[in-house]
Amino acid sequence: MQLYGRVRELSGFGLSYRQIQEAVLRNRQVRLAKSTISVWVNGLHGPTGRLNSFRPNPTPELAYVIGVILGDGNLNIHGYNAELILAVTDHDFAEEFSRCLAKVLHRERPYKIRWSERKNRWVVQGSSILLHKFLNCEWRSFKKCIEHCDRCRGAFLRAFYDSEGSISRKLVVSNTRRDLLRYVQKLLKDANIETTSLRVDTSAGTSLKDPRTGRIYLRRKDCFQFSVRMQSISKFAE
Ligand SMILES: [Zn+2]
Repeated sequence: MQLYGRVRELSGFGLSYRQIQEAVLRNRQVRLAKSTISVWVNGLHGPTGRLNSFRPNPTPELAYVIGVILGDGNLNIHGYNAELILAVTDHDFAEEFSRCLAKVLHRERPYKIRWSERKNRWVVQGSSILLHKFLNCEWRSFKKCIEHCDRCRGAFLRAFYDSEGSISRKLVVSNTRRDLLRYVQKLLKDANIETTSLRVDTSAGTSLKDPRTGRIYLRRKDCFQFSVRMQSISKFAE
């Protein structure tokens, strides 16, 4: 981004591509290809090329994407592609992620939701090196975005519960990060939603059977959980 401005400026002074190349190498110790200089000078595209643009402005959609990535979502680096992937059984969940991701990346249309036979799940996949970099951080760095306003808090909680929540007799949320769950509890408390205390759900070293493949896995980490108290369920829904 910094070199781009400089290259455009030098070109404005009437320097040739070769002269620009030499000036940048001399002053900034970066050797740019003449083809790159040509593309920048002629304004075909800027240094971010055709990358999906992303700026970390707090919006409910960004809060939702953060909630998903801290839950069920995955960040992958695949060759030159920085991917954001969600694979889930719930189509509505995939749809909402697709909508929010597209909004965050300024895409006109939501991402395609495809059915994966292999995963037996709905898959949404987007890619953006900038958003990937933003999301590939310690969760505490997202607090400012999450707590931006009530709508952002709500969107984050909805995404996290869409990912990690389950309801049978109780509305439970579970995750391996104890401190993250404490934070979710605090957000709920701020909204006058009461929860039970945090407890260890399943312990590291115990086994887990994949109901689909029948394979047995060993849990590597402790899992923690808490539930929303009965008297706060309607408040939670609201
Ligand atoms: Zn907000």
